[in-house]
Amino acid sequence: MEGRILSFESMGLVDGPGIRAVVFMQGCALRCAFCHNPESWDCGSGQTVTDEEIYAKIQRFRPYFERSGGGVTFSGGEPLLQKDFVLEVFKRCKTAGIHTCLDTAGVGAGDYSELLQYTDLVLYDVKAVDAEGYRKICGGDISVTEKFQKALRESGTETVIRQVVIPGINDSDEYMKKLKIYIKENIPQAKKVELLPYHLMGLHKYKKLGIEPGLAGVPAMDKVRTNELYKQYFENM
Ligand code: SF4
Repeated sequence: MEGRILSFESMGLVDGPGIRAVVFMQGCALRCAFCHNPESWDCGSGQTVTDEEIYAKIQRFRPYFERSGGGVTFSGGEPLLQKDFVLEVFKRCKTAGIHTCLDTAGVGAGDYSELLQYTDLVLYDVKAVDAEGYRKICGGDISVTEKFQKALRESGTETVIRQVVIPGINDSDEYMKKLKIYIKENIPQAKKVELLPYHLMGLHKYKKLGIEPGLAGVPAMDKVRTNELYKQYFENM
């Protein structure tokens, strides 16, 4: 089976436990205002690879990630837009005893239940906690990701929540309280939340692509404040 990838990273340190082989899939249906990978958006570009090729590459790096308690992460873009491709690779990984992780906004198509059977950990990106906020920040319909949330609840797959914190948009105590309730109600198996401070490191890519950044003029989020919010609301979940 063929898939389209943006890139392959052999020593990922931020997308799941230990050292990870990270496959960044090409294509995304969302347009998050804070996205630092706008080059991943176009479903028609990227590099075409087969599941055999990606699995062989993963195997080559296995000695590095396995020793560290790591594994394989599929990120993006949105890996669920190429769900069947990810499923093929994850099936091979699970047969070989390799830890699998899916970094997703939950915006793909179809039935996710089989894929979740082969997924050890989901890093689930919450964009907003209501339909209006969701549309504003990522241009999507929240009901699409809610279908994924339902599959996630039914699977019981271990989940870590990720939320990008943006000055003036969702860095208030009020938002954090709502986020906490939203997670409890919709993704109850989540035992950990990561608050990621918005940064400006992807801005040069917008310039290169000739795209107007969604958060032009918004400063980077203060890391100390982000950590305070984490401690106050999510440290002891
Ligand atoms: S879901 Fe991820 S890749 Fe897609 S636009 Fe949002 S941040 Fe970017």
